[in-house]
Amino acid sequence: MKRAYNFNAGPAALPLEVLQQAQEQFVEYGGAGMSIMEMSHRSALYENVNNETQALMRELFGIPDNYKVLFLQGGASQQFAMIPMNLLREGRPGAYVMTGNWAEKAIKEAKLIGETVVAATTESDKFMRVPSQSEIVVPENAAYVHLTSNETIGGTQFQQYPVIGGNVPLIADMSSDILSRPVDVSQFGLIYAGAQKNLGPSGVTVVIIRDDLVAESPKHIPAIFRYDTHAKNSSLYNTPPSFSVYMVNLVLKWIQSKGGVAQLEQFNRDKTKLIYDQIDQSGGFYTGAAHADSRSVMNITFRIHTEELEKQFVKESEQHGFVGLKGHRDVGGLRASTYNAVPLESCKALAEFMADFQKRNG
Ligand SMILES: *Cc1c(COP(=O)(O)O)cnc(C)c1O
Repeated sequence: MKRAYNFNAGPAALPLEVLQQAQEQFVEYGGAGMSIMEMSHRSALYENVNNETQALMRELFGIPDNYKVLFLQGGASQQFAMIPMNLLREGRPGAYVMTGNWAEKAIKEAKLIGETVVAATTESDKFMRVPSQSEIVVPENAAYVHLTSNETIGGTQFQQYPVIGGNVPLIADMSSDILSRPVDVSQFGLIYAGAQKNLGPSGVTVVIIRDDLVAESPKHIPAIFRYDTHAKNSSLYNTPPSFSVYMVNLVLKWIQSKGGVAQLEQFNRDKTKLIYDQIDQSGGFYTGAAHADSRSVMNITFRIHTEELEKQFVKESEQHGFVGLKGHRDVGGLRASTYNAVPLESCKALAEFMADFQKRNG
């Protein structure tokens, strides 16, 4: 079997070692005489997977004791709704930092629940950069400030998170860059991430939430949508996405085996440098879509001067074993997603393909 050079934006590449280990344990897990998908989520074996996965998240991401780690369903998109349902109050708007499609989806849900304000927007730059600290204005009475840590579609990423004054909690959608670099979790009130980019398969969403925010869950919303329900039940309130959580467990152990998150950051920077260098040294044949100071280490967005050539690039790349290089339908162009599990070898191969394509078409 030949593995594709997988640059998919999500669901995305998983480490081969993880897939192979899951394959070995697929039919029978832990001597139980059944697979993990067939056993009770109340069994000791599954509870152990659940607890160990939480503990690994805490250890690898440096999560302080006054935070809960939850495994929920409904994707990051469900968090767009749950956050305002749980945290918006009369007279306390949700403040949103607008950096692209995902922030727009998030604020749209919040508007259905309560009051919102735009804390900053880079729309006039077509969302090709993130705002600086001084551009972000948060009302004192805001319930929270929400930002998208890494804009998966535009290819921008906060290099440094803004420091928010007062007591306003910072909330980050880290769906496409969680565990790709060390983060000071104590800067945030809530962090969430759908698993299918950096953590595992789709089906589970990790929510890291500070205890005082868990306590705010109002009683008039359905139990299934309240953070306190899931916190009290250690994410076992109802049947969890057990196979997905198990896969996240394996991915976290893989990260551990690579030396942890700081090591991964270096690895990710080395990988993306190969591709950004190819763009920057192409004499204008390729151009980076995002402003240089906002460039993402997870999603590299770039263009070629005609759409014809972009189409040809995608077509030829597919013939050479590359997958997922077409840009998102909303923004066009090209995109290479280089999440944690994308091997250096894939990035080397892409840089070489880009050089060769330019030679033939430049
Ligand atoms: C993929 C993605 C989402 C949507 O995730 P779902 O799990 O499909 O709901 C939200 N935010 C960001 C930043 C993403 O990359």
